[in-house]
Amino acid sequence: MSALQKKTQKATQQLTPMMAQYMEIKAANTDNMLFYRMGDFYELFFDDAEHASRVLGIQLTKRGQLDGKDIPMAGVPVHSANDYLQRLIRAGFRVAVCEQMEDPAEAKKRGHKAVVRRDVVRLVTPGTLTEDTLLEAGQHNFLTAVFQFGVSSLNGHSETSSKTAQYALASVDISTGEFLISQVNETDLAGEIIRLNPSEILMPDTFVNHSILQDCAEQLKTSITPVPDAYFNSATGEHDLKAALNVSALEGYGAFSKLELASIGAILKYIELTQIGKKPVLRSPKRHGANEILVIDAATRINLELIQTTSGEKEGSLFGAINRTVTGPGSRQLSAWISSPLQNVTAISRRLESVDFFKSNETLRVHIRKSLKGSPDLARALSRLVLDRGGPRDLAAIHGTLEKAIDISGYIANIKALVSPPELVGHISGMLERAQSPLADTLKRALADELPAVKNAGDFIRQGFSNDLDEARMLRDDSRKIIASLQQRYADETGVKALKIRHNNMLGYFIEASTNNAKPLMIDPFDKTFIHRQTLANAMRFTTLELGEIENRINMASEQVMKLEQDIFLNLIEQVVDQEETLIGISESLADLDVYCALAELAEEQNYVRPVVNNSTHFEITGGRHPVIDIVLQKNKDSAFIENDCILNASEQDDLQDTHAQKNEDAGRLWVITGPNMAGKSTFLRQNALIALMAQVGSFVPAKRAHIGVVDRLFSRVGASDDLARGRSTFMVEMVETAAILNQATDRSLVILDEIGRGTATFDGLSIAWATVEYLHDVCQSRTLFATHYHELTALSEQLDQVVNATTQVKEWQDQIVFLYKIVLGAADRSYGIQVAKLAGLPQCVIARAGEVLKILEDHDHRETKQNLIQDLPLFAAVRPQSVGATHDPVSQHINKIEQELEQINPDMLSPKEALDVLYRLKSF
Ligand code: ADP
Repeated sequence: MSALQKKTQKATQQLTPMMAQYMEIKAANTDNMLFYRMGDFYELFFDDAEHASRVLGIQLTKRGQLDGKDIPMAGVPVHSANDYLQRLIRAGFRVAVCEQMEDPAEAKKRGHKAVVRRDVVRLVTPGTLTEDTLLEAGQHNFLTAVFQFGVSSLNGHSETSSKTAQYALASVDISTGEFLISQVNETDLAGEIIRLNPSEILMPDTFVNHSILQDCAEQLKTSITPVPDAYFNSATGEHDLKAALNVSALEGYGAFSKLELASIGAILKYIELTQIGKKPVLRSPKRHGANEILVIDAATRINLELIQTTSGEKEGSLFGAINRTVTGPGSRQLSAWISSPLQNVTAISRRLESVDFFKSNETLRVHIRKSLKGSPDLARALSRLVLDRGGPRDLAAIHGTLEKAIDISGYIANIKALVSPPELVGHISGMLERAQSPLADTLKRALADELPAVKNAGDFIRQGFSNDLDEARMLRDDSRKIIASLQQRYADETGVKALKIRHNNMLGYFIEASTNNAKPLMIDPFDKTFIHRQTLANAMRFTTLELGEIENRINMASEQVMKLEQDIFLNLIEQVVDQEETLIGISESLADLDVYCALAELAEEQNYVRPVVNNSTHFEITGGRHPVIDIVLQKNKDSAFIENDCILNASEQDDLQDTHAQKNEDAGRLWVITGPNMAGKSTFLRQNALIALMAQVGSFVPAKRAHIGVVDRLFSRVGASDDLARGRSTFMVEMVETAAILNQATDRSLVILDEIGRGTATFDGLSIAWATVEYLHDVCQSRTLFATHYHELTALSEQLDQVVNATTQVKEWQDQIVFLYKIVLGAADRSYGIQVAKLAGLPQCVIARAGEVLKILEDHDHRETKQNLIQDLPLFAAVRPQSVGATHDPVSQHINKIEQELEQINPDMLSPKEALDVLYRLKSF
C-alpha cells in the first residue's frame, strides 16, 4: 500500500462520507487539479483550493477538518466553469472534472447518509480542449506526440549520429478531428514543431529534457507532458489506429513506419485516458509526402513572422496582414496553408486558378462571403456532440452550416450556367450539394428557434416535431394552469386573497401566506384541508392532499417531457454521427471556399498579381512590395511603399514577358546588397522571401509581375538576437543558423541573409561573410539575397560570375541623407553610418569626432585590407565544383591526391606497422 493510499485510508476514517469519497477520487488523480461537483458548484479542496484561489482570485473558505486542521475549500459555479478552466489551463494546470453520476434523489433512496455517486468524466489538458470558450476560433489546437528513434546529436554524439536520429510526430486536434502524421530528421524537427504549433507535446519520459523540444515549447508557450515510454508502442499503435478508424487494414491510408505507429499509439492512448474512454471524431490521418511542402526551418519561420510576430502577436505577422477569411475554420485553414506552402507546381496552379476565379467573379465572391460570415463551426460542434459534450446549440450549428452550404452550392450552380468553374471549385460545389439531405430537413423541423446552451434545460425541440412530446407538454403545461386556478379557488374559498402557490426544490409545491394572513387556514374549517408544513419568520407554508396529487401529475408530465426530449436529442446525434464523413467534407469545403474567396478579396483590395510558378529556378519580381509594411503604410497618408524589382538566376530566358535583355544579363543568382542602415535592405530581403512563400501558398502576390521557379527550402537569417536564456551569444546563434543554411540549401532553395558576421570582430566577421558568399555561390548554388555592411564583399562580383551588387538609393542633401528605398544595381560607395547616427540624434561633437576618425581609417588600413582580400585565395576553393576551375589550383590538386590515397586503403586489413607507413606517406604529400 502506497504512502498516499495509507494516508487516504487513515483520513477516510476521520472524514464525512462525502469527504472520504473526495479523498479516494483525488488519490487517483494526484497529477491533476480536481473539480469535484457538488450541486451547482465545482468544489476544490486542500492544495487545489489554495492554488485555484491564488490563480483565479476566488475566495478560500474551509469545510470540515482533517488531523485537527481546517480543510481549505474553494468553489466555482458550474455555469461559468469554462472561464475558470481556461485560466487554470493557461496557468499550466490540468484539471480532472468529477461529475455527479446520479440524481441526489437516487442516492437518498439508498439511505439517509448515502453519498451521491461521482466519477471523473474527463481530464482537461491544453491539447484536449473542445469548448469554444476554451479555444480560439481561428486557431488549431493540436496535441502532438513525438517519438525519437536513433541516437540524437544532442546526447553529445558525433555529427554522423545526428543524421540517424529520426522523429515521428502524430498530431490530433480533437476539437475538429484533424489528424496529421509526419516523420522528420533532427535538423527539421524544430521547424516541424513550429509549423504545427501544438498546444501540448507528449513525449516519452526518458527524453523529457530533449533540448530542441524544450526550446520549441518555450518559444510557442506549449506545455510538455511526459508519458511512460510504454505508451509509444507500434503494435498497440497499429491496433488502436485500426480500431479508431474502424478498419481492419491500414493500407488504404498509406504505409506507416513503426516509428509513426509508436507515436500514434501514444496519442491514442492519451486521448483515451483524458476522454475517459469517449471516442472523439478522428479524420483519416494526413501525411505530407516527400517534397510536397516547402521546407522552412524554425529560425526562418520565426524571422519571417509568418503566423505571429517575434513578440507573439498576430497583428504585424504575414497571417495578420493578409487574412481576409470570415469564419473560424477558414482562418485555421489559411494559417495552415501559410505554415505549409506547397512545392508541387500543379497543386499550386490549381489553387491559383480558384483564387483567380473568385477574383474575376465578384458577385459570386461577395455573396459567398456574406453567406459564410458568422456561420457556425461545424467541425467543433460535431466533435462535442460525438464526445457527448454537445448541446442543442451544437445541433443548430450543424444545421446552420448545412443551410449555408445549400445556399452557396445553389449560387455556384447558377454561375456554372455562365462560366465553368475551375477543378477545385467544382469539387467544392459537388461536396456542398450533399448538404441537401434528409438530415438538414430533420434538424430544421426538430430544433426550436431559441435554444438553451445545455440539453438538460429542455424545451429545445420545436412544437409539432413529435406527437408524443407535444402531448406530454400539453399535460405538463395544463397542470400549470391547474395550479394557477387552484390558487385562485383557495384564495376565494378561504378569503385569504394574498395566498400563493409556490415551488422550491426542497418542498416541491406549497401554499404560502404571510403569518397574519395565514391565521384563517389554521382554524376550523380550513385546518382540515390545509396541512401545516413550515413556519418562516414572516410566512407560513401549507399543503393539501389535492395539491400533492396535482404535483405528482405535474412531476410525471415534466419527467416525461424531459425524457422524450432527451431521447429525441440522442436520436438526432445518432443521425448526425451517421453522416460524420459527409459533414466533415462539407466543413472542409466551406473552409477552403472561405480561403479562396479571402485570397481573391485580398488580391482585389491590394492590387496583387497572379504569380507564374513553374519548375525552373527563375526568380523575377517586378514592382514587388512587402505584404505587411505595404498595408501598414497605406494607413499613413504621408508615406507610400516604394516598389522594387528583383531578378535572380535569369540565365534561362524568361519566355513569359518582354524582359529587357540588358536586365537579364545583370541578373546573377546571388545579390550582395549594401547600403546604409535603415535604407530598406531587410525589408527588401523579406519581401522577396514572403512573395515566394505566398506564391507557393497559392495566393496572388504584392507585385506588378512575379515569376517564381518553385522553391524547395526557404532560409532566412535576419537580425540577430541574443539568446541569453540558453547561454548563447548573438554571434553563436548567428553562426548556428548560418551553419544550418549552408548544410542544407540546394540550387532550388531561396536564401536571404542579413548582416552575417556582424556579431564578432570586423576581420573575423568579414572573413566569415566572405566565405559564406563563396560557399553559397559555388556549392549550394541557391538563389540568394545577401545584405551586408561589409563593402569589401562587393569585390566578389568581379570574381564570382553569379554575384551581382545591388544597393539602396539614398540622396545626400546639405550633409543629410534621405532614404529613397529604391534598390538599384551597383555598390554603395560608403555606409553613411555617421549620417544615420546624426539622424538618430547623437551629440554634434561625437558626430564631428567620428568623421575625423573615419577619415584616418579610410586613408590607411581599409583600402589595403580590401585589396588584400581580393588578391587572396578564395577560402572555399577546395570544395568548389570543377566547373569553376578548382582542380587547377594547387590546394585542390593536393587534396585530390590525398583523397585518392585514402580511397585505396582498407583500415581493417592493415597491420599497425602498415598503418604507420600510410600515415608517413600521407604526411609527405
Ligand atoms: P535596413 O535593413 O536597411 O536597416 P529596413 O529594411 O529595416 O532597413 O527599413 C527601415 C524602415 O524603412 C522600415 O521599417 C520601413 O518603415 C521603411 N522602408 C523600408 N523599405 C521601404 C520601402 N520600400 N518603401 C517604404 N518604406 C520602406
